[in-house]
Amino acid sequence: MHIHEFQKMMRRMYFQRDRRRGIAGTYEWLTDEVRELGEALNSNQKEELEGEFADVIAWLASLANIAGIDLEKATLRKYDDKCPKCGHMPCKCTF
Ligand SMILES: [Zn+2]
Repeated sequence: MHIHEFQKMMRRMYFQRDRRRGIAGTYEWLTDEVRELGEALNSNQKEELEGEFADVIAWLASLANIAGIDLEKATLRKYDDKCPKCGHMPCKCTF
């Protein structure tokens, strides 16, 4: 499944509810899920970690749906087989 298909599936599943909640409320849910992912990273429990990664990408897709952003198009436009900063694959940026 491609990112675009996943986003469309999330749209079919949740768009009406997501639209009623709105961008600010959905962004808040996403940030809660990111925090839970951070906690799960410390738990060393793979199943819980997988669930939190899934929640983060699901809420990101919901937010993109109500913001009118095609995640696959946006990510491939920016990360087009090379680092957007240095233009190399693999990245040669110094941090
Ligand atoms: Zn780079």
